[in-house]
Amino acid sequence: MPRDILISGASIAGPALAYWLNQHGMNSTVVERAPELRTGGQTVDLRGAGRTVIERMGLEQAARDRVTHEEGVRFVDDRDRVRASFGAADLDGDGFVTELELLRGELADLLHQRTRDETHYVFGDEITGLTETGDGVDVTFRNGADRRFDLVVLADGLRSRTRDLVFADIARTRSFGLYVAYFTIPRAESDGRWARWYNAPGRRVVLLRPDNLGTTRASLSFLHPRAGLDRLQAPAQQDFLRRHYATAGWETTRVLDNMGDSPDFYFESVGQMHLTRWSRGRIAVVGDAAYCASPLSGMGTSLALVGAYVLAGELSRHPDHRDAFHAYETTMRPYVTQAQKVSWIAPRLAAPKTRTGIRLLNTVAGLATRPRVSRLATRFTNPPSDAIDLPTYHVATQQGGK
Ligand SMILES: Cc1cc2nc3c(=O)[nH]c(=O)nc-3n(C[C@H](O)[C@H](O)[C@H](O)COP(=O)(O)OP(=O)(O)OC[C@H]3O[C@@H](n4cnc5c(N)ncnc54)[C@H](O)[C@@H]3O)c2cc1C
Repeated sequence: MPRDILISGASIAGPALAYWLNQHGMNSTVVERAPELRTGGQTVDLRGAGRTVIERMGLEQAARDRVTHEEGVRFVDDRDRVRASFGAADLDGDGFVTELELLRGELADLLHQRTRDETHYVFGDEITGLTETGDGVDVTFRNGADRRFDLVVLADGLRSRTRDLVFADIARTRSFGLYVAYFTIPRAESDGRWARWYNAPGRRVVLLRPDNLGTTRASLSFLHPRAGLDRLQAPAQQDFLRRHYATAGWETTRVLDNMGDSPDFYFESVGQMHLTRWSRGRIAVVGDAAYCASPLSGMGTSLALVGAYVLAGELSRHPDHRDAFHAYETTMRPYVTQAQKVSWIAPRLAAPKTRTGIRLLNTVAGLATRPRVSRLATRFTNPPSDAIDLPTYHVATQQGGK
């Protein structure tokens, strides 16, 4: 069994993998490019098998203690009149807003806290070179000293640069032409306990979600033909957003006015990652770096948690890492394929171009609040979250450590 494993990325997949490796008696080091744990982002939902993994980690109560207490999501018009609403308790808590919704940063913090005593975390550094030798991988870092590890796992997200060191020729990004900016703003009286979804003409969406920390999580999502906005620097992205949303109406001015002061502005081009294989030699990928399904699927966090659980479990089962990587991929591939079935049309339907289109969307959303239609709509829009027969792995009594 490998003893010394390097993980790149300390968000969800990386720390979850460190946790399970430790449970199976393997040591890990996590290297994160950011200088500290990144706590930004909106809520991520824990569904189906992802929720089961959290339970198996013994973290369910801790996760429940940190839920956002969001009561649901309301579609509003430019005068803040409610056009449709979906409660969190509808569909047994597995609908548009799930019963167990946490801020992404809160979940990352929970996983980091749970693992930091036995895992060696290095912030503010990244891998610059990976050379496989017969019995290990020689790793060079931007700042730290060179080191050899038994295995390396890349858990550094959709735009992973380290993935390009190993998998560039077999990686394909599927883009939706959709951009999203996430940032935290001060809470206003109008924010309440419901998320509010507002559509402006020109395929522009503003979503405001109350959090459990006394602030409001804003997101601006829009379809745009211009490529490469995600590669601009944050000030240029914010200038673009100010211009693009200047005429959007509703509470958008307040959102834009607070954007510049936000501590966690994060801008991304929404996409998926498709890799024809998830390992090469002694190097494997997990989470968004391997099989990002995009926020449109609502499955990113579950895939990351389940992937980490299965990868560590298979490494504990197989003395040869090649067999373990093969079993990891065989177990996960059908689940991932299903989660990645997101229609190209979905973001276009959710962000109409014209006022007439928005009125139509609000009418359809209003109809979809009826339980039977809602159940059907959820089945259509969200891939099934428990479409995997989660294996049970024997956990070693002797654990790894720093
Ligand atoms: C700041 C932030 C905010 C997010 N907000 C949302 C949201 O609001 N809604 C949503 O659905 N999803 C959001 N996501 C994505 C979501 O976390 C993932 O889809 C999902 O949880 C799977 O997580 P992951 O750990 O595989 O990848 P990610 O969460 O993308 O994490 C990748 C980690 O790797 C680090 N990293 C990147 N490059 C390197 C490198 N070269 N070396 C070392 N480390 C590196 C990143 O800083 C990050 O910590 C966000 C991600 C981040 C990082």
